[in-house]
Amino acid sequence: MLVDTGLGLPDLEELLRAELEEPVERILITHFHPDHVWGGETAHRVTGAPVFQGRLDYEQCEQVWGSRDWPERIAAWFRGHGVPPEIADEVLDQGVAAAPLIRFARDPERLAEGDRVGGWDVVELPGHADGHLGFLHDGVLLAGDHLLPGITPAVGLYPESRPDPLGAYLASLQRTFELAPRIALPGHGEPIDDPVARAREIVEHHDERLERTAEALGPEPRTGYAVSLALFPTELGPSQRRFAVAETLSHLERLVTTGSARRLGDVGPVTYTAA
Ligand SMILES: [Zn+2]
Repeated sequence: MLVDTGLGLPDLEELLRAELEEPVERILITHFHPDHVWGGETAHRVTGAPVFQGRLDYEQCEQVWGSRDWPERIAAWFRGHGVPPEIADEVLDQGVAAAPLIRFARDPERLAEGDRVGGWDVVELPGHADGHLGFLHDGVLLAGDHLLPGITPAVGLYPESRPDPLGAYLASLQRTFELAPRIALPGHGEPIDDPVARAREIVEHHDERLERTAEALGPEPRTGYAVSLALFPTELGPSQRRFAVAETLSHLERLVTTGSARRLGDVGPVTYTAA
């Protein structure tokens, strides 16, 4: 069973042709981010194995990677959150430059909570991606980017995403406490041998970041971009700043949902104030 397929660079095909002792019987995708899904088409072509992906996740995969105007739409959306034109333009240029690399397995078998695949229980763990799946068997959680060692998984707000992705993520971390896996195999880095403790650390991290986000708000309306400069004050290149803004917005929207902040934005850019 192959779980996630990387970017689909030429080494994937070499690896699948040369180094396997047994054939791949199925390919699972945890979520549609490029480093997990783009190799799906190559992996399917080389191994002939069926591809399985979450129902919602595949919808978003098509929405983002299957549509030509996505770079335009995301750049416009960032501008609407106060991102300066030169940064938004670079996001657009990078999107256009990446377009020829986009590949994913079309029309996979769709999965949802409660399904089983090859003896693994499908668990929906939204947050890092809206339709993020985990796979659980015998206390082993194939975690994708739901839990990572060393860094906290990015949780951003994006156009057409869930309205409160951080709320969804915190619920998925709670769910992790209940599932209580004994080990998690993440999408990046070494196995996590106390997944519940790691989930708890990440909850604490976001509690602290939410506090800092609330502190960055006052009576004056501020855009997500402006708040991101307070939360991520180090100088960042355009693609890193883009993630910082998306992450800031997920925290702002959590505060709006819990009543600690207000969103304005019927006219001009979207802005936030303290509630
Ligand atoms: Zn990811």
